[in-house]
Amino acid sequence: MSSLELHAICKSFGSLPAVDNVSLSVPEGSRTAIVGPSGSGKTTLLRMIAGFEFPDSGSITLNGTPLVNGPIEVPAHQRLIGYVPQDGALFPHMTVAANIGFGLPGNAASKQQRINELMEMVALDSRMLPRWPHELSGGQQQRVALARALAQRPKLMLLDEPFSALDTGLRASMRKAVAKLLSDAGVTTILVTHDQAEALSFAHQLAVMRQGKLIQVGPPMDLYLRPRDEETALFLGDAVVLPATVEGGWATCELGRVPVADTAFKGAAQIMLRPEQIELSASGSSNEGCLGVVTDSDFGGNACMLTVRLQTGSSARELLVRSLSIHAPLVGNTVGVRVVGSGHVLGGGQ
Ligand code: ADP
Ligand code: MG
Repeated sequence: MSSLELHAICKSFGSLPAVDNVSLSVPEGSRTAIVGPSGSGKTTLLRMIAGFEFPDSGSITLNGTPLVNGPIEVPAHQRLIGYVPQDGALFPHMTVAANIGFGLPGNAASKQQRINELMEMVALDSRMLPRWPHELSGGQQQRVALARALAQRPKLMLLDEPFSALDTGLRASMRKAVAKLLSDAGVTTILVTHDQAEALSFAHQLAVMRQGKLIQVGPPMDLYLRPRDEETALFLGDAVVLPATVEGGWATCELGRVPVADTAFKGAAQIMLRPEQIELSASGSSNEGCLGVVTDSDFGGNACMLTVRLQTGSSARELLVRSLSIHAPLVGNTVGVRVVGSGHVLGGGQ
């Protein structure tokens, strides 16, 4: 059963469309990440789902109940949707306890018990309860904002760039902890982010937005390996894009003959490979693929990003190749270049 259904949502500010004909299904209990560059309409879409903004047209249904459809506009506080806005937005003049307890029903004792439960869920020490928001770190503030949103026992949780204030290590661990917490509670979740690595790791379903439009939706690995176009490919990671002639499931390009999944496509096309699909070997040991020279090496800790100038073809094309640092050939070395796995025909049938 699908939990949230967006159908043909449009929203303009003045004459500028912010969200343009977006349709999306979010299965119950799953996690969807919406990615896109700044200004692509992510926050506007989330605010319409939460009920803080209303679409010009289109419909929104949650678990079969229409939230927006023609004259129906269910107000935000009746939607049972948790929303952690982009800035976290804790009430600065309230303690942690008051922030989390805001709007909780019941008497003082039952409220206190629920607040303690929520603190435990987001792994915060109950000694933090009397603190003020400005006495917390960025990560702790985010967890309080999450606890406050969970307090209403939402069916759907909307998170708008919730980890952007955190540093890299804390970010990854918070992301894992929050994903687990929401899964355990069976809460359907939509995460908005401009960080593709975060989206790829968090989501069951990934949706890419650009200029108000939903460009592509699917499992993260499908989008990473089979993006619709070059812009989407590059948004989700580094990519090698080469001109090729494609026929019968094979692409002929400057790297030789590379298999492609799209067996129906025939003709000239651009094919895409991810840098980790290109394997280098000491020159001469490779009898397939082609030869190249390493012209640059960008050290990145465990991995290096190498630039390799191909020795075949007329254009002396340079490729980006990701290589484990311990195996990386040195700048100036001649290497064999071979493709692992299949290429993807950009703009092809799949
Ligand atoms: P994102 O969250 O992807 O960065 P937003 O949804 O915040 O994008 O914004 C999408 C577009 O809508 C932007 O061009 C932005 O300037 C515009 N926009 C958003 N909110 C408003 C508003 N309240 N009034 C006018 N324009 C807005
Ligand atoms: Mg935003």
